[in-house]
Amino acid sequence: MKILIAECRQEVSSFNPVNTGLEDFIIGREADFLASHRGRKTEVGGALEVFDAAGVDTVGTYSAQLITSGGILAGDAWTEMVTELLDLVRANIDGVDGIYVALHGAMATTSELDPEGYILQEIRKIAGPDMPIVGSLDLHGILTNRMLENANAFAVFHTYPHEDFDSTGRRAANLLLKIIQDDVKPVTAVVRIPALVRGDELITASGKIVKTVGRCVQLESSGEALAAAMMWSNPFTDVPELCSLALVTTDGDADFATHEARTLAGTFWDDREAMQAELVSIDEALDMATDVPGTTVLIDAADATSSGASGDSNAILRRVIERDFPGRGLFPIVDASAVQKALEAGIGATIHVTLGGTLDPVRFPPLQVEGRVKSLSDGKIRYESHGFGPADAGLTAVLQIGRQTAVVTSRQVSHFDRALFLDNGLNPKDFDLVVQKSPHCPSYCFRDWAAQLIGVDAPGSTSANLPSLGHTICRRPMYPLELDTQFEPGVEIFTR
Ligand SMILES: [Zn+2]
Repeated sequence: MKILIAECRQEVSSFNPVNTGLEDFIIGREADFLASHRGRKTEVGGALEVFDAAGVDTVGTYSAQLITSGGILAGDAWTEMVTELLDLVRANIDGVDGIYVALHGAMATTSELDPEGYILQEIRKIAGPDMPIVGSLDLHGILTNRMLENANAFAVFHTYPHEDFDSTGRRAANLLLKIIQDDVKPVTAVVRIPALVRGDELITASGKIVKTVGRCVQLESSGEALAAAMMWSNPFTDVPELCSLALVTTDGDADFATHEARTLAGTFWDDREAMQAELVSIDEALDMATDVPGTTVLIDAADATSSGASGDSNAILRRVIERDFPGRGLFPIVDASAVQKALEAGIGATIHVTLGGTLDPVRFPPLQVEGRVKSLSDGKIRYESHGFGPADAGLTAVLQIGRQTAVVTSRQVSHFDRALFLDNGLNPKDFDLVVQKSPHCPSYCFRDWAAQLIGVDAPGSTSANLPSLGHTICRRPMYPLELDTQFEPGVEIFTR
């Protein structure tokens, strides 16, 4: 048996004004692509474990994996990427028994608002109507009808923060083998929910979302469903089919799939209000930080690079300086030109620079500061929490601005944990105030020891204050963009 594998994973924020390009991806081809995943805790790594154990031949085609999320992908980069992907699928299609495609689902390009749907549609054209095709998806993906029409089934993450990359790959691989060997006939029921959600209740280990995600896990592990998922999408990817949805795939039992998908969707809808982020204004958060001894962590998810934001927000730092906040604060910020000036001046020098707003100047007017160059580094960091390997923030300068410390990077890195701080010699425990540009981190990073964590309503292209973003493309009405949105569950059935 021979399985062909392709990968295209990116998550974008449509509200980030800077387009991404090919340089924002790790590109892999053929055998090198598979070798780079073997033994790793990625979707393709997990799938290879299953295929290798089953003695199946695997053929790598093309892989584009995001380095860090960002803005919409530029159309020319997309064309180059998808052309090469499809060329390599076409070149390797002879004798193939099934295809596994590892996707994220929250891509958008300037020329194509449903890139994953296009990829599956074109692979289907190459492979023919009878070829089993299974995809894997992030639960933040947007699952379009075109994707559903062209694949046989999907395996979707069940954890947030995500911990099940490899097991999702294993589930996708097992599903594909079942379709090929056991002749199962996947039928998928989908119920689309006109709601966008965000916040702590979506943490699958503790939040209300466990009611639905837990049921999905149960449906899969009991064998009642071939696949089941709650997908709440990336609310920052403003595309026509953006919404939350429930998906249940069974072996030919459309009635059971329909019943379960409807129940999941109803439960999710009932919790929509609880599943919004609780945010306080910057000033209110700084008041709270002043009043409470110990470290206050301000969660600035509005500038979360891992969700697609630009990372150059200076909004909280600006208020800290304007208010002459009495404590010591720690601020990550992307500003390549400020780093360059720090490098030219050298360690110990005092420089006058603008900080932030180099990428998204409308949201973040550049902030004039005087800072001492405390240290410089190559910006290579290693995440504490993920097996993703090293990340590269580019040349990085630590600037001392009065009592405040800014870690200024040349490029975006994801703030899954404290790696950027620790690898630049800064321990968040030594500060009164820490800005963390990520919606969630493992609890040992902050929650286990910090005095308080506060979600801040700062401006940004990935703000959890969803009505502040200005969606123009997704279907309306959409909760909470319209608070009086009504939900009449309609079921769509997909068979192949
Ligand atoms: Zn995700």
